[in-house]
This record gives sequence, structure tokens and C-alpha cells, in this order.
Amino acid sequence: MSEYRLLIGGKLVATEETVDVVNPATEKVFTVVPKAGKKELNNAVKAAEEAFRSFCATTIEQRQALLNKITEAIVASKDKIAPVLTMEQGKPLEMANMEIDYAIMFCQHFAGMDIPVEVLIDTDEQRVELHHTPLGVVAGILPWNFPFLLAVSKIAPALLAGNSIIIKPAPTTPVTTLMLGEILQELVPPGLVNILADNDDLGPEITAHPGIKKISFTGSIETGKKVMANSADTLKRLTLELGGNDAAIVLDDVDPKEMAERIFGAAFMNSGQVCVALKRLYVQEGIYDEMCDEMARLANGAVVGDGMMEGSHFGPVQNKEQFEIVKAFVEDAKQNGKIIAGGEIPDKPGYFIPITIVRDIVDGTRLVDEEPFGPILPIIRFKEIDDVLKRANGLPYGLGGSVWSRDLDKAHAIAKQMDAGTIWVNQHCAFGPHIPFPACKDSGIGVEWGKEGIYELTALRVINISKV
Ligand code: NAD
Repeated sequence: MSEYRLLIGGKLVATEETVDVVNPATEKVFTVVPKAGKKELNNAVKAAEEAFRSFCATTIEQRQALLNKITEAIVASKDKIAPVLTMEQGKPLEMANMEIDYAIMFCQHFAGMDIPVEVLIDTDEQRVELHHTPLGVVAGILPWNFPFLLAVSKIAPALLAGNSIIIKPAPTTPVTTLMLGEILQELVPPGLVNILADNDDLGPEITAHPGIKKISFTGSIETGKKVMANSADTLKRLTLELGGNDAAIVLDDVDPKEMAERIFGAAFMNSGQVCVALKRLYVQEGIYDEMCDEMARLANGAVVGDGMMEGSHFGPVQNKEQFEIVKAFVEDAKQNGKIIAGGEIPDKPGYFIPITIVRDIVDGTRLVDEEPFGPILPIIRFKEIDDVLKRANGLPYGLGGSVWSRDLDKAHAIAKQMDAGTIWVNQHCAFGPHIPFPACKDSGIGVEWGKEGIYELTALRVINISKV
């Protein structure tokens, strides 16, 4: 029996079947969680529909007050959640604390947002108002890289918009989401938030369920396509935040010594398991060698270890399947480029991969063209801006990208030509709840966060009044 519970209809629910949760630093099962099936999903949808009936009539002030209470409760539980987040996800404890701080910041931000009625026309003859009304039951399906932050960042805006929600964490990182469920059980009306853990088998049931009006999905492109196909019969609204293979273009007016640390951080945060991590580093030929040396120096100084051990800068890859995928990328890089740091997988328990830097690699190789989602980075040489722009834009991904230069006007002009949802200049991977997070091409459909993200959790209603 698990010490954790699902949250369904305001009750903490145990199930007979459980799912093992493995600590990626030890490869040992550290706990088990209940496994939801069709019965639990149906109960959750029914409860969420019921909760929605009264919650949709609440005022924005009441919803804001609820989100403030949730923020306070997360703050109070932070010390309990952080070590469990490290155990299930692998990230160093300091990073786990930072993830929870981000979740708190997101919740707090949405608690301060309004969804005002827009008055489009107001004359003596006519008044036209645009209302953003709640959708009903929303489902959030999560990946395993930032389980706690992503759960909160889906729940808070959904509630602000007046919806009820069902959250399904990834099967390898369900624990802190269930802990969040325990916190919410005491704060939210029964059925308003429901948390269902699974064994990677409940997703298709959720996307096909007629009671669910919208899916907010974060995960791989491959699964995103299945979500879209499976939601078609019930005509669900979708927000799909999918994979990325962000290119960074570094011009030769940059001092590699000055910028390498920032670039390194953007590439390897969370051991490279970030959708908007910097994943392809294009460096202009004049500073190519120096930039490679700087990146290798930083990689060689990085400590990869158990996230619970003090001094670990980076944790393991989160799960066995991803570990095998990243190992295959390392092998491919050995054939197609020159590894100048890392590359040797230690023969010890844990899904550890050293921070790996690959130079003298070209477009068309697997490491450049595909998303590794792990601690390995290709550095690719370029000469002309037009040519590098073609290469950066030449893949089906379109999540993020960046330009690095001392000349901000030049960088801005290049940024405008990059085909992605967010383009940064002299930084990468900077985001927040107040900034919309859009995707283009195969990296997704729609947008989360910001007021544009809130609108995606609502329907438009026009009230058109004749005054004559
Ligand atoms: P995944 O697609 O394998 O799984 C994501 C979730 O989908 C899990 O909860 C899984 O159980 C569920 N799922 C599996 N099959 C399903 C189906 N047929 N229908 C519905 N749900 C199903 O992704 P992952 O391996 O957990 O995460 C890594 C990927 O996620 C990477 O590609 C990464 O870039 C992407 N990602 C994107 C963002 C973003 O905001 N764009 C953020 C984080 C991660």
C-alpha cells in the first residue's frame, strides 16, 4: 500500500494497484504510488463537472483569494516537498528548491491577475462586450522534467479562469504532484482539482473522455500528435507544448570568456532536460576554438552526482528510457564529431551522464538534428549570418532560439528572422508567468502563461446590445 493518495472529488484515494517510483540516482524503488484506471478517471471527471457548476459562478476576487491560499500552503510545505522532488526527479536539492520557488512565483502571479470584460464598442446606439468565460473540466498532462512547477503552472491559471482541473503527472515523477494534491485537499472545494497518477496508460482515456473540454499537454512531439488525434472525436480544445531543439547563434564580436558561463547554464540546466534548453550552439568561426575550449573547461569542472549529495551541480538523467536515448546520442557523437569533455558513462548505479561537449560536428548528424533532452551539446561552426539562419531555421522545431552579440541592433535584426516562439538576445531560457510562452512549427500549438495563456483556458462570449 502506498503512503501517497490520489485526489478525487475532495477525497484522498488509495488503489489496490500501485506503481513503483525509482530514484534515478540509485536506480532503486524509493516509494510506490496508487495507480488510477478508468474508474478513477470517471469519478474524477464527474466530481470535476460537479465542482465546475458552482465554481464557474465565483468572482475573480474569490478565485484570486483561493490562489493566494494555495501559494501560502505551498510556501509552508516547501521543505517537505524539495527532498522528495530530488529523489523522484534527480535534480540537486538546491535546484529542487528553486523549482518550488518558481511554482510559488507562478501561483502568486496568477493570483494577482484579472480577466476583465473588454468593451469593444460603447456608443449611444450600441454596446459590445467581450467576455472570457470558463470552459469546464480541463486536463493537464505532464512530463517528468519539472513535475512540481508544471503541475502548479497548469492548475493556477485554470482556476483563475474559473475551470476545474484533472492533473496527470508523468509515471516516473508522480510523487510531488500527489503531495500537492494532499495540500489542495484541505483548500479547494471537492472535485475542483483532481490528481491521478498512472503507469503511462491513462493519457488516451483522458484525451478521449467526453466530459473533458480541454487538454493542456506538455511532452514530446510524438505523444502530442497522439493527443491531437485522440481528442478529435470529442472536439477538445488543445494547448500542446512539445519538444524543442533550440539554436543559439553566437557572433564573433562576443568574448567567449565572458559569455560561455551563461551559455553553459542555458544548455545544461536540469541536466539538459528542459524543453527550451539551448541545444544547438552555432559559433562564428573567428571565436569557434576559444568558445569550444571555454565550454569544455566548464564541463570538466561540473560535478554530476546524486542530487542529495552536497556539491552536486547536476543530477542524473531522470529515467532509464531517457538514459538509453542520451547514451545513443553520445555514441553517435563519437562517430560524427569530436568529444572534448565528458562522453564516458560511469559504470555505477544511477542514470549518470557527464556533461558532454562535442565540437567539429555538422548539420545533418543526429545530435544536431534531433532533440537529445540530456546533458550533451553540439558546437557547430559557421561563417555567414544568412547561412546560419537557414541552418537554425531548417528543422521542424520552433520552441526557442537565441542570438549572442555585443551589437544589440544587429542581434535584434537576426532575432526577428529566427523561426521560434521565443527568441532571446544574450540570454536563453529566461521565462516567467507574466510572459507568454508560445511555440511554432512542430514544437506546439497555442500558448501558455501571460494573459494570452489565460485566454486559452476560456471561451469568448460576445454580448451585443442595441440601445435604440
Ligand atoms: P512524453 O510525451 O513521453 O510524456 C508526457 C506525458 O504524456 C506523460 O504524462 C505520459 O504519461 C503522457 N502520455 C503518454 N502517452 C500518451 C497518450 N497516448 N496520450 C496522452 N498522454 C500520453 O514526454 P516526456 O518524455 O515525459 O517529456 C519529454 C518531452 O517533453 C521532451 O520532448 C521535451 O522537450 C518536452 N517538453 C516540452 C515542454 C514545453 O513546454 N514545450 C516542457 C517540458 C518538456
